[in-house]
Amino acid sequence: MLVASASLLNINVVILDQGPNAPAKQIAAPRTPELAHVDGAFSDPAKIRELAGKVDVLTVEIEHVDAHALADIEKETGKAVHPAPRTIQIIQDKFAQKEWLAKAGCAVSGFVDVDSTPEAIRQTGEKLGYPFMLKSRTLAYDGRGNFVVESADKVEDALKALGNRPLYAEKWVPFAKEIAVMVVRSASGEVRSYPAVETVHKENICHLVICPLRSSDPAVAARAQDVAEEAVKTLEGAGVFGVEMFLLDDGKIYINEIAPRPHNSGHYTIEACETSQYENHLRAILDLPLGSTSLKVPSAIMLNILGASPSLSEITSFADFALTVPGCAVHLYGKAESRKGRKMGHITLTGDSDAQVRARLRPLLERLPGGPS
Ligand code: ATP
Ligand code: MG
Ligand code: MG
Repeated sequence: MLVASASLLNINVVILDQGPNAPAKQIAAPRTPELAHVDGAFSDPAKIRELAGKVDVLTVEIEHVDAHALADIEKETGKAVHPAPRTIQIIQDKFAQKEWLAKAGCAVSGFVDVDSTPEAIRQTGEKLGYPFMLKSRTLAYDGRGNFVVESADKVEDALKALGNRPLYAEKWVPFAKEIAVMVVRSASGEVRSYPAVETVHKENICHLVICPLRSSDPAVAARAQDVAEEAVKTLEGAGVFGVEMFLLDDGKIYINEIAPRPHNSGHYTIEACETSQYENHLRAILDLPLGSTSLKVPSAIMLNILGASPSLSEITSFADFALTVPGCAVHLYGKAESRKGRKMGHITLTGDSDAQVRARLRPLLERLPGGPS
């Protein structure tokens, strides 16, 4: 989606990812042989250097990269890296990220460092109470790295699931809703936020994004934007950031985590906002004027298309049905293989009202790959 946006502005993009048919590479043919995409892992410093040799500006679409290599390249070559490697380093360690936010005065709920031993995890349970959330500090996504420790007798299971990873723990947050705000930050530090949205997760994976946020208190949405902007202001570097938050019954907002890149909770911006998160990411990292983050439709809902099995045909037949729904934009990602819980694409519904987009969503939920939701 970033590459599609770049092509409209004649911006050449060189991609580092595994395989010649990686989804992003399917979108942009190299303009010259020297600008051929790079085949390799974004955790491989040699490959990151090879990529850096071909471009003027480096950016990431995932935080699980070798941030040290990026820092070295920035120092040695003076090339711009966005967001700043230091920001990526802080964010990719979720415990370091929470410490950073807490020190900066951003609202986060209780969290503690914990060793990967049964005694340490049991002590954490006594400190935080049960249930609590045990999390991997690194390489986490879609909840792969989270374990809900419901009681002291689940400690062994938690270690079996996460024991070989560096860990920390969070107090259980009894949220009323999960919400998110995309924030774009220019190289000079100007920040603009997109409208607050509600995110609905199923089994730790984002399922729906509902925009704008519905709330009995109309001030909540603006407050969420403020919280997100203040958090992003503490970080260095340009680009878009996805700020995931918990909204409690009493109106309190805690930050869950920040993604230093375009984010699933901002996919709706492609159809629903004056400038998409992708275009604004490009504008920010290339020092172009930032675009408006305003909604251009009254209402939008994003639905992730998750794999249910290895079958690709259940994904395409679902997408074919979606094409019959008015106001529906289908995005399939060109991934070669499907598997349970894998993000294979998404759908954005736009409409004149919340009631209308919800009515449009209903037949889609009934036909989701893997069964109705
Ligand atoms: P992502 O794909 O968003 O990067 P992740 O693997 O980093 O996911 P988190 O965002 O930490 O995981 O958690 C995934 C989901 O688990 C959250 O969206 C929320 O639904 C739930 N969750 C996380 N932390 C807590 C908590 N402390 N209390 C209650 N629920 C939580
Ligand atoms: Mg995460
Ligand atoms: Mg998350």
